[in-house]
Amino acid sequence: MWQRGAVTDSAPLDVDLALLGGGGAASLVLAALDRHGVRGLRIAVVDPVRRRGQDRTWAFWGHPGSDLDPLLSASWQRVEVATPARRRVLELAPLRYAMLRSGPVYDRAAEAERRLGAIRIGAPAAAVHDDGDRVVVRTGGDGPTVRADWVLDSRPRPPARPGRTTWLQHFRGWWLESDRPVFDPDRAVLMDFRTPQPRRGVSFGYVLPVSDRYALVEYTEFGPELLTDAGYDAALTGYRDLLGLPGDGLRVREVENGVIPMTDAPFPARPTPRVVRLGTAGGATRPSTGFTFSAMYRQADQVARALAAGRAPVPAPAYPRRHRWMDAVALRALDRGSVGGPEFFDRLFDRNPPERVLRFLDGTTSPAEEVAVMNSTRLRPMIAATAGDAAHRVRDRLRPTRPAPAIPAAVVATPTPPPGTGNRST
Ligand SMILES: Cc1cc2nc3c(=O)[nH]c(=O)nc-3n(C[C@H](O)[C@H](O)[C@H](O)COP(=O)(O)OP(=O)(O)OC[C@H]3O[C@@H](n4cnc5c(N)ncnc54)[C@H](O)[C@@H]3O)c2cc1C
Repeated sequence: MWQRGAVTDSAPLDVDLALLGGGGAASLVLAALDRHGVRGLRIAVVDPVRRRGQDRTWAFWGHPGSDLDPLLSASWQRVEVATPARRRVLELAPLRYAMLRSGPVYDRAAEAERRLGAIRIGAPAAAVHDDGDRVVVRTGGDGPTVRADWVLDSRPRPPARPGRTTWLQHFRGWWLESDRPVFDPDRAVLMDFRTPQPRRGVSFGYVLPVSDRYALVEYTEFGPELLTDAGYDAALTGYRDLLGLPGDGLRVREVENGVIPMTDAPFPARPTPRVVRLGTAGGATRPSTGFTFSAMYRQADQVARALAAGRAPVPAPAYPRRHRWMDAVALRALDRGSVGGPEFFDRLFDRNPPERVLRFLDGTTSPAEEVAVMNSTRLRPMIAATAGDAAHRVRDRLRPTRPAPAIPAAVVATPTPPPGTGNRST
């Protein structure tokens, strides 16, 4: 399915900008182009799937007052971080934590697409050839060949080579509806490490309430292996009980599953001169947390500003190099078990103002602030991890490159409850 124009195999569709992949990153780019008043640009969006409705919930922090505000389902200025040792409530001002469901974002992108006059090609992008002046994109099925000045590619892909540490952030969330008030809508639970910790990895729960009767309650693990279906349900049931939520009068309205890479493996953001990778494929997923949204939003804004000013649509790297290095060290320390996850985050929040920790996790702190953050971790295991990381980098340089394994495809939200939990008390 593609619209507009009489283009045949022999006459490629010429555009200024082709977006390969129309998910989170591309939706934010389309919205930003519209917001910055970019007009007259010939744009094609190539994705076999037209993303609509609720298939994920984005949680992120930032300053209030952005164009996203009217789309938010909820936001909180106070969040809780809990460990077995203590529960602390953090005041986030001037930041706030926010929840954005995918439906309004995809709707906003569809509206932007219309206003920008973009051409939608409902076929997969296959071969991409960049000759330095233009990029030729062959599409599958009956789709046309597209010839673009610039390509923004957010198709999921494995990293360029395996990481020194390869973990996954994997999770299941239940949208819970209660007959009576059981949630505190004034505060979210950002991370709750009181969950039983896995043998290898880190687990935590969190709660994002939209009202006193409706909330997303999620169980997350950082680690090398996924759980079984029953494993996620058991973990979530355990977390629900830990929260003291009543077993009766509580229904699972929706289920959300996901898998996000957490690795120091490289995701090249500029594989060829006129191809820019965005989103998870372009390294926007922060290795130490899996958070992606803020970097995608930031880069979408930079791309749109550049195009509005007649410049090349090349954003700054999703995270500064030093942050990627710090993440590699932190991941290594967690993976080798020399640092425990709850203890690591406990110290971070204990010894720094919350705003600094959150900006650090987003990759927007200054070097001086980063020294303060690093000083709040236990020094000896971090030094060992730094040395291990350096030695591994040297070994990597001496070894031939191996292909990286694919990251398991994210399983996304399902609007119906799983067997055994559907529309009844859990
Ligand atoms: C359930 C879930 C919850 C998440 N929650 C958060 C969160 O709370 N906070 C946060 O910061 N991050 C979160 N993330 C991580 C990240 O923000 C999202 O995965 C985000 O959608 C990534 O955007 P993307 O554009 O890189 O990939 P996607 O949104 O997955 O988009 C990729 C697109 O590429 C298309 N595609 C695939 N193959 C082809 C092809 N050959 N040709 C053309 N198109 C193709 C797909 O159809 C898809 O539309 C979450 C992820 C998931 C899965």
